[in-house]
Amino acid sequence: METQPQQRHRARQQKLKDQVDQRIANATVSRGLLIVFTGNGKGKSTAAFGTVTRAVGHGQKAGVIQFIKGEWACGERDLLTKCGVEFQVMSTGFTWETQNKDTDRLAAQAVWQHAKRMLKDPTLDLVLLDELTYMIAYDYVDLQEVTDALSHRPPEQTVIITGRGCHRELLDMADTVSEMRPVKHAFDKGLQARQGIDW
Ligand code: ATP
Ligand code: MG
Repeated sequence: METQPQQRHRARQQKLKDQVDQRIANATVSRGLLIVFTGNGKGKSTAAFGTVTRAVGHGQKAGVIQFIKGEWACGERDLLTKCGVEFQVMSTGFTWETQNKDTDRLAAQAVWQHAKRMLKDPTLDLVLLDELTYMIAYDYVDLQEVTDALSHRPPEQTVIITGRGCHRELLDMADTVSEMRPVKHAFDKGLQARQGIDW
């Protein structure tokens, strides 16, 4: 015999289940998504690479463009290239200590050509454009060209864009947008970035 609290709990859970079932029934469209991870908190690239790993784990094909080349190695790159993921990394040029706008623009344009190729490739299930937002903010890559390439991509292809301060037009275009909010960050109390955690 169920007690009253147990009955109430069961009724609440049933209502929740009905609501979720209704939302699942309402989701009738299946196509590739445009996902944006933005904001000032840690976790944008981590979430994006997590999704690449998830896709690759299902045997899907992914490509990655890294628009900012830090001084550091990149654990995800070393792992995922072994799994057949194509990486294109902005060669010289833009880092946090950006110096020369002309060489930065050339480097951004060179890697953007690879991005455009990937955004036309129907064999790619997932394309990650890591730190793309800065290229648009600095006007190294033309916003219109980006929105064109995104809207003409293969319908089954999902694209993930990361970076702070994502342009409003890309946020409007996106199907899913998550904003990472820095509640706190270890760096602020003087803790160093760590291999395996930060890169
Ligand atoms: P991650 O790659 O760890 O997911 P991210 O992509 O969200 O971070 P970026 O702006 O690309 O953040 O910064 C990359 C580096 O800066 C990482 O080493 C990350 O740990 C660090 N970082 C991210 N957010 C902050 C912050 N709010 N303060 C200080 N350092 C940060
Ligand atoms: Mg990042």
